[in-house]
Amino acid sequence: MASEDKVPAARIVRCPSCGKSTRYDQSNADRPFCSSRCKTMDIAQWADEGYRIPTKPGIDDDSEFEVPGRFNEEEDD
Ligand SMILES: [Zn+2]
Repeated sequence: MASEDKVPAARIVRCPSCGKSTRYDQSNADRPFCSSRCKTMDIAQWADEGYRIPTKPGIDDDSEFEVPGRFNEEEDD
């Protein structure tokens, strides 16, 4: 019962960008990334996704609330 190490010296996480094991503590300024490079890459990916606006913003979900023309004042061109 003494073999319970519930206090790990350093928390190891996987870099979200490259999947490499890296330390998650104050010594790693780029945590949870393994390096500033991966951190930058990940941000770039997010930005890239941000530019891709979904073409179908869940219109199908609204089928049950579909109302004849009257409520579409906002974006009705
Ligand atoms: Zn990495």
